[in-house]
Amino acid sequence: MIQTINSVFKAQQAYKYTLRNSNATQRINKLSALKSSIEKHEKEIYAALRSDLRKSEFESAITEVVFIYSEIDYAIKNLSNWMSPMKVGKTITALTAKNRIYYEPKGVCLIISPWNYPFQLMMAPLISAIAAGNCAILKPSELSSETSSILCRVIDECFEDSEICCFEGDAAISTHLLSLPFDHIFFTGSTAVGKIVMEAAAKNLTSVTLELGGKSPTIIDETANLDDAAAKIAWGKLTNAGQTCIAPDYILIPDHLQAIFVEKYKVAVQKMFFTESGDLNLNSYAKIINNRHFNRIEALITDAIEKGAQMSYGGKGDASTQTILPTILSSLPENANIMKEEIFGPVLPIIPFKSIEEAISLINSMDKPLALYIFSQDKKQTQHMIKNTSAGGTCVNDVLIHISNPKLPFGGVNGSGLGSCHGQFGFKTFSHERAVVFQSSFNMSNLIYPPYEKKGWVLKWMKKLM
Ligand code: NAD
Repeated sequence: MIQTINSVFKAQQAYKYTLRNSNATQRINKLSALKSSIEKHEKEIYAALRSDLRKSEFESAITEVVFIYSEIDYAIKNLSNWMSPMKVGKTITALTAKNRIYYEPKGVCLIISPWNYPFQLMMAPLISAIAAGNCAILKPSELSSETSSILCRVIDECFEDSEICCFEGDAAISTHLLSLPFDHIFFTGSTAVGKIVMEAAAKNLTSVTLELGGKSPTIIDETANLDDAAAKIAWGKLTNAGQTCIAPDYILIPDHLQAIFVEKYKVAVQKMFFTESGDLNLNSYAKIINNRHFNRIEALITDAIEKGAQMSYGGKGDASTQTILPTILSSLPENANIMKEEIFGPVLPIIPFKSIEEAISLINSMDKPLALYIFSQDKKQTQHMIKNTSAGGTCVNDVLIHISNPKLPFGGVNGSGLGSCHGQFGFKTFSHERAVVFQSSFNMSNLIYPPYEKKGWVLKWMKKLM
C-alpha cells in the first residue's frame, strides 16, 4: 500500500501542472461526472450508511447525499464567476498598473475524513478541491468501513488515480500520507488528531484546514420559547444519535426553567423517536458507531450520576444493538467528566445558571466551540451573548441549520478548527490567492527611483494625494 501511495502521489505531482490549466467547463464536467456516479450508486450508499450507523434513508438523504448534490449544483452554477480573476483598485505608487487576484489551484491535496457523516464529510471538501482545479488523495475513516468502501468505488469510476485517488486505511496509512509534502491538507476529525495533523504539516510547511469538534453549548434565556427550543434541540441532539460535530452538546438555562424544559424535551423526543406503543423507533434513531464509543458514553453517564447529576430521562443502553436511549442529565455539576470532552452521543446535560454572565463565563472558560446556539426573544441580550463569546458559527432560535447554507462559511475557531469550507469558502480554501500586477508600458515608476536627493517634490505630492 505504501508503495502504491508513493507512486500515486508522484503521478499527481506531475499531473497537477496540466490540471491547473483546466477551464471552468472542464471542471464542471468533472463535477457532473461525480454527481452521476453518486446517483448511480445512491442505493448502495444508503445501505452502507445503514450498516455503519443504522441511519435511515431519509436521514442519510438529507444529511449526506442530497446535501452533496446541492453543494455540487451550487459549485457548477457559480464556478465561472469564482474562477475569474478579481479586479482590485490601484495604488498611488502604481497608477498605471492593473491589479488582479488570481485563484490558482493549490496543487496536490490530502483530504482525511471522520466516520460520523462519512459520505458528506469527504465529498464536500472534494467538490471544492475539484472546483479549484486540484489533484487529491482521499483517506476516509476506517470506522465507517462500508461507506468508505462505496465512496472509494464512486471515485474510482470517474477519476484516474493521477487526478483523484482514494485509499482506505487506518491511522498508520494517515501517518504515512501526512509525511508527504502535499500542497494542502484538509482534515476533519477530532481536536487531538488535528494537532497531530498540524504538527506533521509543519514539517513540510503545508497549509492546513482543520475541521474539528468540541463542546457546542446552547444558551436558553428567560425569554425563550421553550416548546420551540425543546423540539429543535431534541432534533439537533438526536440526529445521528448525537454523533454530530455541531450537535448541541450541553444546555445552559436559568435555574427556574430547568424542570419545565426537561418536561418539554421529553415530550419532543417521545414524539420524534418513539412509536405510539412507546418503543424506541430504530428506523429513525441511529446506533453508536462501535463498542468503544458505546462504553465511553456509558462511563460518562455513570460518572455524572456519581458526582451528583440527576438522571431525568433515559440512561439505559443496549450493547447488543449499540443503542443508548435519549438521556437527560439535569443539574450537572461542572466537575463531571462529561464537561471535559465532546459527548458525541444522545446525552443532554443541563447546567442551570443564575445570570447570563455566569453562562457566558463558563463558555469562555473552555475552548472556543464549533457552534454556539442561543434561544431568546430578547434581541439586545442575544447581541450581548454573540459579542461576548466566540464560536465557529451560531444559530439564534435554531440548531444545525447554518451548515446547510453554502453562502455561509462553515468552520471552527482555534480549538474547534482553522479555516472554512462550503461554496465559495471551500473554493478559496483549495486555491492560492495570487496577487498579479500588470504594469503598463507607459508608467511613472522612475518617479520613485533613486537618487532620492532630487525627489523631495515627489514625496510632497504623494503625501498630499494619499
Ligand atoms: P478522528 O480524529 O479519530 O479521526 C479522523 C480521521 O483521522 C480518520 O480518517 C482516522 O483514520 C484518522 N486518524 C485517526 N488517528 C490518527 C492519527 N494518529 N494520525 C493521523 N490520522 C489519524 O475523528 P473521528 O472519531 O473519526 O471523528 C469524530 C470527530 O470529528 C469529533 O471530534 C467531531 O466533532 C469531529 N468532526 C468535526 C467536523 C467538522 O466539520 N468540524 C465534522 C465531523 C466530525
